[in-house]
Amino acid sequence: MGIELLPTVASEPFKVFKNAPACAACQGGCCSQAPGVSVPLQWGAPSTGAMKVRLREALLSGEWKIQSRDHNVPWSFELTICLVVVPAGKLEVSGCNGWHSELIRGCIFQEATGCRLPWKRRPLECVALEPVAGGHCKCHGSDLYQKWLPYQDLLAEVCKDLPSGFDYRDHR
Ligand code: SF4
Ligand code: SF4
Repeated sequence: MGIELLPTVASEPFKVFKNAPACAACQGGCCSQAPGVSVPLQWGAPSTGAMKVRLREALLSGEWKIQSRDHNVPWSFELTICLVVVPAGKLEVSGCNGWHSELIRGCIFQEATGCRLPWKRRPLECVALEPVAGGHCKCHGSDLYQKWLPYQDLLAEVCKDLPSGFDYRDHR
C-alpha cells in the first residue's frame, strides 16, 4: 500500500461511526458510489511542507486523486471550483462481441471484505457517514470539502510539480 493518511478522527468535533451492523449487510454501497473526501489534517496540515511531500507521494502512487467540487460562495450565486483529495476509483472493463467499455468508479480501497484502510486512516468523510439500514445513511460531513479552501494554491502547486502528463485527476 502507498502512503497512509494520518489518523485525525479523535480530534474531530463530530461523531464518527465504526463497524455498524448495517454496513455488514450493505457491503459498502457508499464506497461503490462516491468515496469520501480526506481533509488537510490527514495530510499533515497546518505544515505546508509536510503536506506537499505527502500529497506528492500519494498522487504518484495512483491511489489518490484530485477531484473538483462545485463550491457555492456564501451570500452570492457565485459557483467556484474547490479542489479536494479523494481515493482513486477502480477501472472496470466490460464488453463482448467486439464492444469494449472502460469505466472508472467506486473506490480503489474497497475489497470484497470491506475497506482495506485501517479505520482511523480512512478519509474523514467516510467515517462521518451514519449508517442507517435500508440505505438511508446520513451524511454528517458534507461540508468537509471546504476544509481544502485555504489549500487550493498548495494543491495546484503540488499538481504542477508532478511529471509532465501524469494523470492526477479523478475521472469518475
Ligand atoms: S455507511 Fe451506509 S452505504 Fe455505507 S456501507 Fe454502511 S450502510 Fe452501506
Ligand atoms: S476509503 Fe474505504 S470507506 Fe472510504 S470509500 Fe474507500 S473503501 Fe469506502
